[in-house]
Amino acid sequence: DGNPRGQVGRGEGRVGQVKEVTSLANPIIKDIRALTQKKARDESGTFIAEGLKLVIDAVELGWTIRTLVYAKAAKGKKPVDDIAARTVARGGLVLEVSEKVIATVTRRDNPQMVVGVFEQRYGNLRDIKPRANETYVALDRVRDPGNLGTIIRTADAAGVSGVILIGETTDPFSLETVRATMGSVFAVPVFRASVAEFLAWQKQAGVMVVGTHLAGAVDYRTIDYRPRPVVVLMGNEQAGLPDELAAKADKLARIPQAGRADSLNLAIATGVMLFEARRHLLTLDDRG
Ligand code: SAM
Repeated sequence: DGNPRGQVGRGEGRVGQVKEVTSLANPIIKDIRALTQKKARDESGTFIAEGLKLVIDAVELGWTIRTLVYAKAAKGKKPVDDIAARTVARGGLVLEVSEKVIATVTRRDNPQMVVGVFEQRYGNLRDIKPRANETYVALDRVRDPGNLGTIIRTADAAGVSGVILIGETTDPFSLETVRATMGSVFAVPVFRASVAEFLAWQKQAGVMVVGTHLAGAVDYRTIDYRPRPVVVLMGNEQAGLPDELAAKADKLARIPQAGRADSLNLAIATGVMLFEARRHLLTLDDRG
């Protein structure tokens, strides 16, 4: 304990160290705990991922780990020691902490034994050059962290190449969203764009934008999703798709509904659309 306050895993003289922490007041732990708040995530450009498997997968996929935290009880387990060694080798900080301390990092009743602090990563929309058989999801002002996490997970499962966040959206790197992605946040590139940036990209990207709308005239099952790369464009939970985006979509699709519900939940509707758009590309014996 007693480390100087500073950026998580970046303080001078801290790189590559393994530290033991038992005090809840430890400044590095305080910095990590602060990452449950958006402001601290934005300022540091980092976020928290919980769980040994997730942390190992993330490092394997090339994400930069700044700090690895593990509970003392996990020490001596080979995968934990391995990931600790890899973190140190990459210049990250490793903290061995009491269970009491790790429990406060993510405020869970049943805390994970391993937590990683990673650098956030956004792709650049201009770098997306869609190819045949690729599918993207574009989300207009998605608000709900659980919806976004579920969509990223579902997009991953459907073989989507990227998720584009349009306008003011919930943070893909919040604890709740990352939890809901079940690790897929590390597998699916996430992009941010304003409405104008998205429309400019759409114009020259050679894609078919399929907007989804409760007033859509086209049954989503009648669209031919093969000729061009597809962007499935989904509307905000409350307001739906704004006119400026809906008007520029190549198709406005609707999922027929029965029953009393006015609409489907955003994440469910996205799942239905994605598995239809990629139906011809997914088979039981073809993973990855
Ligand atoms: N009150 C909103 C409206 O009037 O559009 C409802 C939005 S709905 C909860 C969120 C998004 O899910 C919609 O903008 C649309 O993209 C998609 N969605 C939900 N149900 C749908 C359906 N039956 N057909 C097409 N899209 C649907």
